[in-house]
Amino acid sequence: MESLMRGYQRFMEHYWAENREVFQALAAKGQSPRAMVIACCDSRVSPEVIFDTEPGEIFVVRNVANLVPPYAPNSDNHGTSAALEFAVRKLGVSHIIVMGHSLCGGIRALVEDSLTDDDDFIGPWMKIASVARERALTASDGVVETARQLCEHESIRVSLGNLLTFPWIRERVEANDLTLHGWFFDIDTGNLKKV
Ligand SMILES: [Zn+2]
Repeated sequence: MESLMRGYQRFMEHYWAENREVFQALAAKGQSPRAMVIACCDSRVSPEVIFDTEPGEIFVVRNVANLVPPYAPNSDNHGTSAALEFAVRKLGVSHIIVMGHSLCGGIRALVEDSLTDDDDFIGPWMKIASVARERALTASDGVVETARQLCEHESIRVSLGNLLTFPWIRERVEANDLTLHGWFFDIDTGNLKKV
């Protein structure tokens, strides 16, 4: 924890000091980010670092394996869907980016079928991408490493499809008022590509 506090001190001495006016303007006027990014919780794929963004520039939600669930309003706790609703209906973002990444532990567990009943939440959450798993296993002739890589890409497509099940997203996409993007980040090379 000490390294985090030292980092905070560096942040205050340098970043905050140099961007004081930016933060104060954002505090006074509120945020108006143009893009929302849905990324994985993985500690290696921070969108603010990868896109070198300023405070207030991107609205980020991170979850296990950067998945978007289908639209299913009920009394359950839908963290990602709530973030989507806020970004689209309150902030009016113009772009939603689903950013997958290489070496995703969630996707690996899904493909290798290593999720167990002992997982309280991860197993049911990863079922969102079960269609991606099936497609990847079929296309890879059972080669696990290939299936894992295919599933990392295929799950982004599943999430893009699920975004369109939200009526207030579909409406704005059809009106050309909102654009959906699938991007894939390779941790080892730093390469970013469209999916
Ligand atoms: Zn991941």
